[in-house]
Parts: sequence; structure tokens; C-alpha cells
Amino acid sequence: MAADPSSETPSGEKLYEGKAKIIYATDDPAVLLTYFKDDATAFNAQKRGQIVGKGQINCAISTHLFQRLGAAGVATHWLETTGDRTMLVKALQIIPLEVVVRNLTAGSLCKQTGLPLGQRLEPSLVEFYYKNDDLGDPLLTGDRIRAMGLASEEQIGTLRRLALNINQLLTDFFMDCGITLVDFKLEFGLDAQHQILLGDEISPDTCRLWDQSTDDEAQRVMDKDRFRQDLGQVEAAYQRVLERVLAQSPKN
Ligand code: UDP
Repeated sequence: MAADPSSETPSGEKLYEGKAKIIYATDDPAVLLTYFKDDATAFNAQKRGQIVGKGQINCAISTHLFQRLGAAGVATHWLETTGDRTMLVKALQIIPLEVVVRNLTAGSLCKQTGLPLGQRLEPSLVEFYYKNDDLGDPLLTGDRIRAMGLASEEQIGTLRRLALNINQLLTDFFMDCGITLVDFKLEFGLDAQHQILLGDEISPDTCRLWDQSTDDEAQRVMDKDRFRQDLGQVEAAYQRVLERVLAQSPKN
């Protein structure tokens, strides 16, 4: 590995470029390299922009959260972080579902149900959305998931259990950081042994995170809602999340 991989463009074949990340092949077909970009999109890519430094911050936050979840027994795709925007991950057959866990009402839940913002949900909700930009990532039901052949009854149950376990671990961790985990999105995939692993990223792009030190509705937002809603100070908020995550992580 080069001394400063962050300054390099990954050398492997580009396999896929998404809104926030690029996936490259490596010499090992079972391993992929994920590159975190500064690009940001919202509202199904109708709003586009850049959050300077986001790639590094999300790579670092995801690294720490994957390591923590791994230490707690959650199987994830993370293998090694090789640069300040790059991590090696296990190649997975991605299940095209966005698994959203909600602890407090926000976002599309409020829009679609009329529930007020910030109401605690007991028990937490687990929702499945179809990962398909052309269709606008629609909300699915268990019956629809089975009818579409996206996952079996048993796999849906496993995804729910995994998502709720991860929610407990992340909620407790962010609580120690003085941050409320409002909701978040996970993606899962199957490895060569057909085991379900956590994939993608966990970052302020994919979580709603509220600073517990203020009740102010705009000030408390430490996640991509700052970009979605033009609240300003987006990078600074992401940086504050990283600092708090690092402060709670064991030094080595
Ligand atoms: N989310 C995501 N990617 C998506 C859609 C949602 O990471 O394509 C995250 C979002 O950041 C939030 C949670 O999933 O933490 C729930 O999002 P919601 O359904 O409220 O959608 P939104 O209105 O934010 O698009």
C-alpha cells in the first residue's frame, strides 16, 4: 500500500459510481474498494451539491461504526480502511432494499402520515424501501417484497432482527456522544456463503442525528437535513459528529 493512499486515484477498474461513493475492483474478486466522494444529493437526486470534506468524514465515521458493530458481533462488509476516503469491503450481492429504522418521527414519515416532527416511536419502526431511483424508492410491504422476489419471509425476519439489534447498539453509542439517533438507513447483502452482512455506509448522510445540547430545531441537526433544508454549516456539523464519535472510541 502506498504511503498516502488518500492522494491517489484508486487503480482498479471502476465497477459502479453512485451518488456518494465509487466502487472499484481489486485483485481479489471477493474484495472491493469503496471511495467516498464529497458529492451530495437529496430528493431522489433532484437537488445536487458538494459538501467539502464529506468523503473523508463519512469514511472515518463509517469505519468507527463498522468496527464497533463488528466488535459487538454484527457481521459487516468492512475489512480495512486504507486511506482517508477509501475502505476495502467484502463483495456482496446487494439486496435491493433500503432498511430504515425510526426511533423518532421525521422526514418522509411525517410527510406521509401527518405525524408531528420528533415524536418518539415505541417500539421503533422498521421499514423497507425498494432501492430503485426510477421508481423513486417506494415504501414496500412484506407481501410486496415476497411478490417481487427480493427476499424470502425468513430473510425479511432476519433483516428486521439485524436492523433492530444495530439500532440498539447505535442508539446507545450515539447517546454516549450526546446525540439522539432519530432514524437511519441500512443496506444488506449476501456473501459467498449466503450469509446476510451489513453493507454500504453509516454516516450523517444516512442517519438523522440530533445534538442533545440544544432543543433548537435547526441548530440540533447534525446530518444531511442541513443540506436538504439549506440550514448551512453542513460540513461543520458532519465534523462535529466525527469529533464526538472519535472521542468515544477506544484509543489504540
Ligand atoms: N435515507 C438514506 N437514503 C435514502 C433515503 C433515506 O440514507 O435514499 C435515510 C435518511 O437520511 C434518514 C432515513 O433514511 O436518516 C429515513 O429517511 P426518510 O424516509 O425520512 O426519507 P427522506 O425524507 O429523508 O428522504
